[in-house]
Amino acid sequence: RPRVLSGIQPSGTMTIGNYLGAMKNFVRLQDEADCLFCIVDLHAVTVPQDPADLRRNTLSLAALYLACGIDPEKSTLFVQSHVPAHAEFGWLLQCVAYYGELSRMTQFKDKSARHEVVTAGLFTYPALMAADILLYQANLVPVGEDQKQHLELTRDLAERFNHRFGETFTLPEPYIPKIGGRIMSLEDPSKKMSKSDASPNAYIAMLDEPDVIRKKIMRAVTDSGREVRFDPDAKPAVSNLITIYALCADKTVAEVEAMYEGKGYGDFKRDLAEVVVSALTPIQARYRELLDSGHLEEILRRGAEAAAERANATLRAVKEKFGFLV
Ligand code: ATP
Ligand code: MG
Repeated sequence: RPRVLSGIQPSGTMTIGNYLGAMKNFVRLQDEADCLFCIVDLHAVTVPQDPADLRRNTLSLAALYLACGIDPEKSTLFVQSHVPAHAEFGWLLQCVAYYGELSRMTQFKDKSARHEVVTAGLFTYPALMAADILLYQANLVPVGEDQKQHLELTRDLAERFNHRFGETFTLPEPYIPKIGGRIMSLEDPSKKMSKSDASPNAYIAMLDEPDVIRKKIMRAVTDSGREVRFDPDAKPAVSNLITIYALCADKTVAEVEAMYEGKGYGDFKRDLAEVVVSALTPIQARYRELLDSGHLEEILRRGAEAAAERANATLRAVKEKFGFLV
């Protein structure tokens, strides 16, 4: 069975981009792979987080994982900071990674340009992400397209480690959906949708009320012309909306195009809003039940225990290879 690891940051409320680009594949993979899913709170604090928000977002994300279909009987669901091996191995990989290669990470360039305060953690974070993956010898990492470069770095670090200390790590492969791997901002189709966007109108959050979803979609930017046609170069905004439609309605892009032949943007957007609302409503109902159930902490505790057992075994072997007294 392939081994799978992936994570989502509690840096806001999960968006439909996180859902379509990553979470849907998590749910699909849990029947065919040995899966670990993580709430990566250590990553979230690479930019300032209000402590009360972080606590709330962490529990909320746990409930959303389960509401989207992650089954704790099949997969290990845990909070990154509950397994100290991540931070410890992250440090060791910071001492394997080069300043130059971290400087080439486009996410660091984007995020550091957007924040007044740029922490050292934001810069070294890809080494921590590599630690998350390699600790479990994951060979498949379901992520959105924006994480491809970090996955390549992870492979480079694993190879470097193996070369220096002897065969230790499996090289992980990214698992990125062909459609939906990069959902774009509703306000600017040249930017990816992000839960930490300063403007809430740029994203649809998984927990947005139906009327908020309708409003955001009606306000979403479109392209010149009137045709509902999939052409990411000429019509990036409309193509993004078609992608969201297709994935939420379980249709192909061609089917969506055919449905709106001869119709305008207005009809299309009104229907799109209803398609998204219908996709999110059952998830939101399960989410509210889970949040009130009082079971979340126990599920996360058991998940951390199971993850720590595996992570600690890897960490111990790694420390021996480094030459630490263990
Ligand atoms: P932040 O802005 O805080 O970085 P984010 O929306 O980018 O938040 P992450 O927690 O960084 O979310 O990423 C979680 C997962 O969602 C990753 O696998 C990432 O590749 C994927 N993802 C993020 N944004 C998108 C998007 N716009 N389209 C598809 N997948 C995405
Ligand atoms: Mg991100």
